[in-house]
Amino acid sequence: MLAVLAGGVGAARFLRGLVQIVPTDEIVVVVNTGDDDVFHGLHVSPDIDTITYTLGNGINPDTGWGLAGDTFRVLGALERYGAPTWFRLGDADLATHLYRTERLASGSTLSEVTADIARAWGLGFTVVPMSDDPIATRLSTPDGEELRMQEWFVQLRAGPEVTAVRFEGAATARAAPGVIEALREAEAIVVCPSNPIISIGPILAVPGVLEALQARRARVVGVSPIIAGATVKGPADRLLRSLGHEVSCVGVARLFSAWCSTLVIDEADEARAPQVAAVGTSAVVAPTLMTGPAEAAALARVVLDAVGIAHT
Ligand code: GDP
Ligand code: CA
Repeated sequence: MLAVLAGGVGAARFLRGLVQIVPTDEIVVVVNTGDDDVFHGLHVSPDIDTITYTLGNGINPDTGWGLAGDTFRVLGALERYGAPTWFRLGDADLATHLYRTERLASGSTLSEVTADIARAWGLGFTVVPMSDDPIATRLSTPDGEELRMQEWFVQLRAGPEVTAVRFEGAATARAAPGVIEALREAEAIVVCPSNPIISIGPILAVPGVLEALQARRARVVGVSPIIAGATVKGPADRLLRSLGHEVSCVGVARLFSAWCSTLVIDEADEARAPQVAAVGTSAVVAPTLMTGPAEAAALARVVLDAVGIAHT
């Protein structure tokens, strides 16, 4: 069994490769829920949905979120009432949030609903939220405000400088059923090229996860989401910089080295490999830009080879 730590878009792209080269029923994906929020009374889990829709072939490929061909009539109608509509939820997408919210209200856990939604989309692998308890990523700005992840990222378009990040609720949360067991028992643990601060960070904040990873350090392999000092997409570079981390694969290696033995870095960063190694993390140099499913599968092969896992 392979355990995978995942955020949204970068993780979904990587998984599109991984499912081509190992049996899907051997994959357990632990997903960040620090971005989860409530809109119009509905529980939205952006990273879980990005993964489910991408691997279920429903994703809007132009945005990396939402469903292809979706319409926005409900949001348009909500505007009449002055409801905030900056978080874009398409009409068909809303069905997922309605279904999830109703199930949660009737006493199901987020893991149970997530598993059922994944099954309905035909995913052959296990999708587990990092926790069934609410954990909210909070970003502090220089004027002392504390923003929820979607407020900062979507409503304010990642505009305000970020001085600190914390994961509200994490200290008293419990890992979702199966998460710690998966980390303990996995033949290898793969860290997707996801945002180190706000996608991988929240997972590490769940009690027991860091210790479980540290205990398996030799079997943990990651992919740098930073290529040549920049992010492929999203605010990872800005967040790393404003929190005082080097914006490079070396900066990522420093953040991960206590619990990750091997980091796949892009061929554009080949010259940085010795510095990654100096941090205590073995560097594997390979093309890491996943322009399509074939490139993603090639990257997944490199990742599994790095920890000696068989694949096709
Ligand atoms: P989000 O929750 O949708 O922001 O998605 P993630 O946290 O999973 O992924 C965001 C990160 O994925 C960003 O830092 C990107 O640089 C990285 N990323 C996206 N596509 C690629 C790719 O093709 N290759 C690599 N190496 N990183 C990528
Ligand atoms: Ca996310």
